[in-house]
Amino acid sequence: MQLVQTIRRRLAAMGHVEKFSATALVVTLALAAVFATVTESVVYRMAEQAETERTAAIIRHRYEHTLRPEIFALGDPVSSESLRASLNRAFILDDIFRVKIYAASGMVTWSDEARLIGKDLSTNELFQVAVQGHPVSKIEAPHRHEHEFEKGTHEKVMETYVPIFARGKLLGVIETYRYPEDFFRRSATAGWIIWAGILVAGAILYGIMVGVVRRINTYQRGLEKALRYSRDSLAREKTRLENIVNAIGAGLVLVDQRGNILWSNDIATRWFGLAEDREGTCYGRLWGASAPCPSCIRACGDAQDKLRYCEHRVVDENGRERHYEVITTTNPALDPAEPMRFLELVLDVTEAKQAQKRLQLADKSALIAQLLGGLTEQINTPVSILLTTVTRHLGEPLRSRYEKDLLHDLELMERQCQRIDFALRSLLSFSQSAAEARVAVSLSEVVSKAATLLSPRIARNAVELQTSASAPAALAEGAPNDLLQVVLNLLDNALDVTPSGGKIEVGLVIEPKHNGAPEEIVLTVSDTGPGLEPEVLPKLFQPFFTTKGDRAGSGLGLAVSQRIIESMGGSIRAFNKDTLGACFEVRLPVFRDAPTN
Ligand code: ADP
Repeated sequence: MQLVQTIRRRLAAMGHVEKFSATALVVTLALAAVFATVTESVVYRMAEQAETERTAAIIRHRYEHTLRPEIFALGDPVSSESLRASLNRAFILDDIFRVKIYAASGMVTWSDEARLIGKDLSTNELFQVAVQGHPVSKIEAPHRHEHEFEKGTHEKVMETYVPIFARGKLLGVIETYRYPEDFFRRSATAGWIIWAGILVAGAILYGIMVGVVRRINTYQRGLEKALRYSRDSLAREKTRLENIVNAIGAGLVLVDQRGNILWSNDIATRWFGLAEDREGTCYGRLWGASAPCPSCIRACGDAQDKLRYCEHRVVDENGRERHYEVITTTNPALDPAEPMRFLELVLDVTEAKQAQKRLQLADKSALIAQLLGGLTEQINTPVSILLTTVTRHLGEPLRSRYEKDLLHDLELMERQCQRIDFALRSLLSFSQSAAEARVAVSLSEVVSKAATLLSPRIARNAVELQTSASAPAALAEGAPNDLLQVVLNLLDNALDVTPSGGKIEVGLVIEPKHNGAPEEIVLTVSDTGPGLEPEVLPKLFQPFFTTKGDRAGSGLGLAVSQRIIESMGGSIRAFNKDTLGACFEVRLPVFRDAPTN
């Protein structure tokens, strides 16, 4: 059992060639043994037959020259003695040591063993073969007690039955026991030669087979190596091509004639959430449309027109707009049996659009700022004089000189002058902000500064201000005063609407990269006021839009804030919270050490 296990272990540890060599050795040895045994046996049979024929020829020759047919008839003991003498003369051969004579009937007429004389041995199988006319032999170990002519111990003897005929008639059979030493020696030698020859031939065959297998194995290893190398090169080439396809910074989508997505590169997969599955059409999965885009090359069905452009605007789950340009090209199949395909190159042009918008805004702003700068300075001086004068008249000692109605009018004039003054200051800041230098601004510092400035009002209104900044180190690139003004405007508006006992929350987080969009700072100001009316929402950011009537509303706070934020590459939006109140959300790009222009 242990031996079997050891053999199994060894076999398992062997290589293909070793396994083949071992198996081939066993099989070759077995086949050689079988072949040698069969050959030896055939050769032996043939030699035995030849030896039988030779014995028969000798016996017949001796019979014809020395004996007479009377030997096949029973005689008296005296004649038996004389027969013995004749037989001795006839068969005085070194290797014949026993003789038996049968009548044609099978009766033993003479034997060197007297007890057999007169017995019927016709049932003897070899005798029966011999009476058919064929001399026959059997080689076996002799029974020592059987013969008295035996001259020593022989390992084996050759027992031959020779039929004797006279004029075509069977007279009887002469049986002899011989020890044909030459025959035994020659057949032993022939056996050795056969075994040695077949074993040598087997060894040569084995050597040739193992040699051929080794060569095939070496050739196969070479092929495998070449195959591995080709596979590695292909894999490297594939990775290189994939890297190139992804490094172009654009999405690539392959679609069939119906628009079904067949393949997308990593970028398109990430942008449009195709990682899980690509089921569906390009217009459905990419643009959320229910029908093909009218300008698409597929919809036009115009394969001659090899290139088509179209633009798409999508709003992501964060409410941000993203702009894409799509160039579709027909990808004619190389195999005419394959259907036509289309390759869509998708470019994210959001940043470019925003930059373009900022540039336009900056151009316009520069002009407006110039005009506003001149205009506000023109108005500011008379309004300041007017406000100082009215304030002086409303203060003591002059106040006591005026009647109640006049005082009321003076107070009205003071409020309106203050309103004009606030509006002018906003306009002035609006016109100057473009010129302010841009630096890295800590938004948490801006928030705490705004909170400090507004703390008297917050306390007076009995409102709770809660700041939850999960990104205290968030840095944006911009003008510190501009950002302060934005936060002040948002808090000011929130304070206007939040009832006593209410709460204003300021949140500050950094949102990680998402769907190809870069990292962003998200600042939120939410209140527990009445929220935003639906008709107010579209007008919120329009200049001079206010619902504060004759109070200090100028309608410029949000318009100015939007302009500042957009000039910094950010966005601002407002929405009603699920619970009571409004929320203003400002998104700004994170400050980078080496900002791109
Ligand atoms: P102003 O504050 O001078 O009216 P703004 O541009 O700051 O000008 O605001 C425009 C209008 O937006 C306000 O008059 C008000 O109707 C609305 N608004 C701003 N913030 C809020 C808020 N937190 N809740 C409800 N309405 C608001």
